[in-house]
Amino acid sequence: MERTLILIKPDAMARGLAGTVLSRFEAKGLKIAGVKMIQLDEALLKAHYSHLADKPFFPTICEFMSRTPVIALCLEGLEAVEVCRSLCGVTNSRKAAPGTIRGDLGMSMQANLVHASDSVETAKAEVARFFKDEELFGYEQPVINFLYASDERG
Ligand code: ADP
Repeated sequence: MERTLILIKPDAMARGLAGTVLSRFEAKGLKIAGVKMIQLDEALLKAHYSHLADKPFFPTICEFMSRTPVIALCLEGLEAVEVCRSLCGVTNSRKAAPGTIRGDLGMSMQANLVHASDSVETAKAEVARFFKDEELFGYEQPVINFLYASDERG
């Protein structure tokens, strides 16, 4: 099973869509391994968006992402990284496919409701950045026997 980091962004928080966004992941069958509300500060934003530090829109991302607290989630499942990226849709919400979170709920490139780690390697680093070991939970989820076939569960 893989783990990935999701952030429910300030636009979703402000619009009262945090539950809707979370429920999309839950309904898909992803397991919540960790959840917390957090106010992103400059140091965390610089680390999280280091790949965009030289982009002209970097200051506006930092302003936007710190406008309200966000909800950080660590979600678990088979190929969770790829599955969550697909559920989110492409970065620009106007171009995101209907059926995706961004495609159904957003109109903006920046205010696109949700962050999801973009690779297995990034996910490991991002989960570790946002969650301490003791904030992540392994617990029985009997429904797993119906979510996956026996040969998929490993
Ligand atoms: P994604 O979140 O889809 O993986 P990126 O890692 O490229 O996309 O960008 C991180 C976030 O920065 C995006 O989700 C979006 O909020 C913001 N962003 C990306 N590109 C732009 C842009 N051209 N203008 C404004 N904001 C942007």
